[in-house]
Amino acid sequence: MLSVRDLEVSFKTFGGEVQAIRGVSFDLYKGETLAVVGESGCGKSVTANTIMGLIPQPPGRIRNGKVLFKNRDLTKLNKRALRDIQGVDISMIFQDPMTALNPTLKIGEQLIEGLRTHHKVSRTEAKRKAVEMLSLVGISNPEERLKQYPHQFSGGMRQRIVIAIALICEPELLIADEPTTALDVTIQAQILELFDEIQRKTGVGIILITHDLGVVAKIADRIAVMYAGKIIEIGNKREIFYNPQHPYTQGLLNSVPRLDLQEEELKPIEGTPPDLFAPPEGCPFAARCPFAMEVCDRVYPATTQLTSQHTVDCWLQDPRAQAVLS
Ligand code: SF4
Repeated sequence: MLSVRDLEVSFKTFGGEVQAIRGVSFDLYKGETLAVVGESGCGKSVTANTIMGLIPQPPGRIRNGKVLFKNRDLTKLNKRALRDIQGVDISMIFQDPMTALNPTLKIGEQLIEGLRTHHKVSRTEAKRKAVEMLSLVGISNPEERLKQYPHQFSGGMRQRIVIAIALICEPELLIADEPTTALDVTIQAQILELFDEIQRKTGVGIILITHDLGVVAKIADRIAVMYAGKIIEIGNKREIFYNPQHPYTQGLLNSVPRLDLQEEELKPIEGTPPDLFAPPEGCPFAARCPFAMEVCDRVYPATTQLTSQHTVDCWLQDPRAQAVLS
């Protein structure tokens, strides 16, 4: 349903041009959840915002690439055409539900407004749909709740309302940027179950942006691992969790606490990501990688296809690397 090809996005700043996205390609299939994971600043949110058409240009600049959705390249659409897609075919859920909701408007108004902006429906019909959406996201007594303001709801309930607003126009694609980060653990679990349930009921495709591998393990079908503006490994959930091939993915997984191993020491990934004002020519992980070879500093590795869904960008997959290791 969505195909991102060779996407490059940069931002002009007083200090120079930051190359935030450096050739990202992936596909999203109907009804699946693709999790995009990586450290802060790796380009996850910029990718999401580019798909959504939310990159301000300037200072942002889409230097290259395509975002193909329904046979149209979203990077080429004008503001009006983009507005017709935003919130209707593609919706976005942000991290903090309080900033996503208008504190001065009743919940009902906010739900109905989204629907009436994009569809010609009567107020009565829009209200009926708003009640239906609040029920779908598990808010009891929806008719009464429509008359309340955001501050009358808990954090978890507010995020449910944000999800209801995002889904009211029945989008085909939902982009969720760290949707559970601002919530406590029990509410997180409820929201993740809600995503699962909604996807089963509506068949919506979901791109989930997160740094939380626990969240990923719960709801992702496939996982794209981003580092320094590139997808360095992508595969289905089993492949990434049980057979990670990129040293960075392995490092990420080793740095997560495990309940099945007692007194195990956490192993952080030493060092920091490269400066994206002047990204390295070779592998951007080379300065932190325990397996780095001379070639890694000079040349970016080719993408190796490991299975039909699993690819990795690492020189260790090159047949000549085996000789180096032995
Ligand atoms: Fe490490 Fe080289 Fe692979 Fe990069 S390409 S992850 S530096 S081995």
